[in-house]
Amino acid sequence: MTEASMVKESVSATDELVALKSVNKHFGALHVLQDIDLTIARGEVVVVIGPSGSGKSTLCRTINRLETIDSGEILIDGKPLPQEGKELARLRADVGMVFQSFNLFAHKTVLENVMLGQIKVRKADKQVAEEKARTLLDRVGVGTQADKYPAQLSGGQQQRVAIARALAMDPKVILFDEPTSALDPEMINEVLEVMQQLARDGMTMVVVTHEMGFARSAANRVVFMADGRIVEEAAPEQFFSNPRSDRAKDFLSKIL
Ligand code: ADP
Ligand code: MG
Repeated sequence: MTEASMVKESVSATDELVALKSVNKHFGALHVLQDIDLTIARGEVVVVIGPSGSGKSTLCRTINRLETIDSGEILIDGKPLPQEGKELARLRADVGMVFQSFNLFAHKTVLENVMLGQIKVRKADKQVAEEKARTLLDRVGVGTQADKYPAQLSGGQQQRVAIARALAMDPKVILFDEPTSALDPEMINEVLEVMQQLARDGMTMVVVTHEMGFARSAANRVVFMADGRIVEEAAPEQFFSNPRSDRAKDFLSKIL
């Protein structure tokens, strides 16, 4: 048995860190999330794939309440999402997010980007925040870039800073929404490798991606979405070798 499959099997199905129950969301007439039921266990890596417009980003955004939902329930570590205020800020800090477009603060240095949330939301002491930021920047391989501004870094470096910034909040789960889609091809692997390492370290992750190699090697489970629904969920080996639905077969035939 490989090390990766041992990690996969050690995940306990009962320890639900994220739970979506019958979640529905509309944008006007568009029913963008339809009766979504999804649970993510502590330490689990779930890759979400599906055609463009199927609701993957909206799904991620509802999990940390960047979008409201119309009905259903979302629980993080057993607790419902607070509506607003400090509770919501704390919860958002528990749910890290890494976006396609990096979203770093352009007028802050790399180091400041990784310190800011620790100080503002986690109320960390400045020195403690700096030390942690430097450690995390080293961990993602951009320690020497700490005093630069985001625009002075490559896309791959910026995305690794964004991952360090998410990690600085000690999140319970990190959501990655197409983290490598905006990168030049030669930079994709340096970001995926950091994500692979996080997965091996036991971080709970939801990853929207078209990188099927990552899905095969890092995911415990693949969730396939189409038209606002979860059409299929399976272990990666099973999903890629034997997709059950026509939608998934069609999708895979186009991307593989
Ligand atoms: P995916 O990430 O799978 O490509 P999205 O979640 O971004 O899909 O979008 C799902 C659908 O919802 C698309 O048809 C998109 O145009 C629509 N949509 C997304 N965000 C908004 C919004 N803020 N207002 C209106 N429609 C939206
Ligand atoms: Mg999207």
